[in-house]
Amino acid sequence: METILLLAHTEPDGTLAKPALEALAAALALAGELTVGLVGGQAGPAANQIAASGATRFLAVTGGPFAEARYSTDAAAAEALCRTAGAAIVLAPATSRWSRALPGVAYRIGGRVDTHATSLAVENGVPTVTRWFYRQRMEAALTRTQRPWMVLLDSGCVPAWSGPAGAAEVEAVAVEPPQTRTTVTGIQAPKSDEQTIRPDAKLLFVAGAGWTKKQADGAVHGPEAESLILGFLRSAKASLGGSKSLVDLSGEGEAVLRFMTHLNQIGQTGSTPRHSKGLSTCCHGEEPHVVGWRFVNQRRAVNLDPNCGWARGKADVLYVADAFAVMRKVNQLLGG
Ligand SMILES: Cc1cc2nc3c(=O)[nH]c(=O)nc-3n(C[C@H](O)[C@H](O)[C@H](O)COP(=O)(O)OP(=O)(O)OC[C@H]3O[C@@H](n4cnc5c(N)ncnc54)[C@H](O)[C@@H]3O)c2cc1C
Repeated sequence: METILLLAHTEPDGTLAKPALEALAAALALAGELTVGLVGGQAGPAANQIAASGATRFLAVTGGPFAEARYSTDAAAAEALCRTAGAAIVLAPATSRWSRALPGVAYRIGGRVDTHATSLAVENGVPTVTRWFYRQRMEAALTRTQRPWMVLLDSGCVPAWSGPAGAAEVEAVAVEPPQTRTTVTGIQAPKSDEQTIRPDAKLLFVAGAGWTKKQADGAVHGPEAESLILGFLRSAKASLGGSKSLVDLSGEGEAVLRFMTHLNQIGQTGSTPRHSKGLSTCCHGEEPHVVGWRFVNQRRAVNLDPNCGWARGKADVLYVADAFAVMRKVNQLLGG
């Protein structure tokens, strides 16, 4: 088997997050000689965390300039690690940080890169990557003769590596930080319980445009829709998705569902998240939306219309019911 380099950036506490541990598991399954290349403010805790994984060498580019996510410093660090390791296959988790930096690094080192890989395995002695095309409608298996071959592995596709910590010996790779025009002075982010997109949640809750439409009494019930949806998300720790019609409405500055943005959009022109269950409410279930449910294993929908798209083989269970009444009751049962 060819030599492998796993690239991982460390978290602020110096450890590795789940996507890196998933990529590590995929790298180990290739059964080749594995080098780990770490980038971050510090690398010791990460190297110790995976010391017992079977990796034979630990390289690290560390220091203040490499702690922040930034194309120029991330690319410089990754390039140095690739050149030092000289590995044929470079695997990295498809975090926003690596997705941004590694295609440029592949160009610098004369390699090739494949993004959104869902697996990397040796088949008949040949490393093979799988990925989906045409908005997750077709799965392809790819091989390449070009080396180095960089592969960005999507999260949630491989069980994360777990094992006891140990003591790893880390070789420092010196990199002169490139000049940067920006200085990171701090991070402003909503509190984690205010985040509505939770990739690790068991349940995807989708809100459609029906929440903003006139209801049986002839009125729109925006504030109640907001409180029912947010109440459910808080109790169920679900991730929030939206149909395109709904997120477009929010983008127009409508007074309804202010927490909904285009980042929540599921579907052909939105995202295709991986959750074990999905509950769609007030959403018609049209094909361009449902194609985003490709990796949701169990699908349920609540719609007033018994002929909605979900009824046509797209949902496992369709509740023909008023979503306001259903979610009021569900929240009550959840103690909200
Ligand atoms: C090129 C292209 C790309 C597209 N990409 C996407 C995409 O990525 N994602 C996406 O979502 N769409 C996409 N669309 C749009 C898609 O075709 C639909 O227009 C959109 O998904 C409809 O959104 P909706 O179901 O929320 O709204 P609507 O079609 O307005 O449906 C609202 C539903 O709510 C129900 N309802 C109303 N009140 C209640 C209630 N009280 N209880 C229960 N049900 C109720 C109604 O019966 C209705 O079925 C795309 C379209 C095109 C042409």
